[in-house]
Amino acid sequence: MTCERCDGLMVSEQMCDLRGTNRELYANGYRCLLCGDVVDATISENRKRPAEASAPSITDTARMPSVAA
Ligand SMILES: [Zn+2]
Repeated sequence: MTCERCDGLMVSEQMCDLRGTNRELYANGYRCLLCGDVVDATISENRKRPAEASAPSITDTARMPSVAA
C-alpha cells in the first residue's frame, strides 16, 4: 500500500481509537513512513464517498433574482 499524499511506503499499524467511532478500542490502519499520514478504516471509507454529498450548494439561494422595478 502506498501513501495518497507522497506515494511513500505505508505500514500496517494497530492504533488506539480515541474517538470512539468503532466499538473496538484498537483499529487497524496504515501509517506512512515518509510523511506520517495515518489512514484507518474510517478515514478510508470517508475518502471513498463523493465529496458533493457533504458540500451543500448555496448557489441556488445566492442567485435569487432581485426585485424587478
Ligand atoms: Zn506519505
